[in-house]
Amino acid sequence: MKITAISIFPEYFSPLDLSLIGKARNQSLIEFSAINLRDFTHDNHHTVDDTPYGGGAGMVMKPEPWGEAIDSVIAKGSTPIELVILTPAGKKFTQRVAEEMVGSEHLLFACGRYEGIDARVAEYYRSVTNIRVHEISIGDYVLNGGEVAALVMIEAISRLIPGVIGNPESLAEESHNEIGALEYPTFTKPAQWRGLTVPEVLMSGNHGQIAQWRRDEALRRSKLAE
Ligand code: SAM
Repeated sequence: MKITAISIFPEYFSPLDLSLIGKARNQSLIEFSAINLRDFTHDNHHTVDDTPYGGGAGMVMKPEPWGEAIDSVIAKGSTPIELVILTPAGKKFTQRVAEEMVGSEHLLFACGRYEGIDARVAEYYRSVTNIRVHEISIGDYVLNGGEVAALVMIEAISRLIPGVIGNPESLAEESHNEIGALEYPTFTKPAQWRGLTVPEVLMSGNHGQIAQWRRDEALRRSKLAE
């Protein structure tokens, strides 16, 4: 899968060199690149923002550098692009959305800063062939920029690509799976730690009882989280 991020802080994406995603990149399961939006400005100060029409606090990201940066990505390939514009006003990112997006050929993340990106950027690319626009929020809070939101999405989507997680079975039993239940509590050795004991059933070797205990705990946890 191809993943591109456009940002004024491309260095923000250095964690993608690490851990399972770094390994998946080395194995060419993921092809990632970060583009600096300021490379698509034409003034000495590399300006990407301006005052909002209608007045008000803060600055808005100008459409021209965004248009040129996105066009440069489109020009490099003919595959369909999912243009993800990160915004707290977008559709909520969930495990279901991650599952839908893992089938994509190319995810292009537009990471806003300031008060966000001029609204015409989303409107314009909705009319462009081979581009699908998704305005996405990772939760009901406001971040300083879209980079952290893009990292969250990239990690949640990438781990669903076959081969990225060593044991694919671990994906099936996880929280937020299709049934919607959360995962049961997990324990490892030692059996005693600071006066706390692992539930006896898990050490019983009785697979039927263990499975039942896990189902009950998953339901109990899911109810508590509602
Ligand atoms: N003025 C905007 C509003 O109230 O909706 C907030 C802009 S925020 C300070 C700057 C950028 O951070 C946004 O353009 C977006 O890219 C990113 N951002 C902030 N919160 C986010 C969230 N919950 N989900 C996704 N992106 C977010």
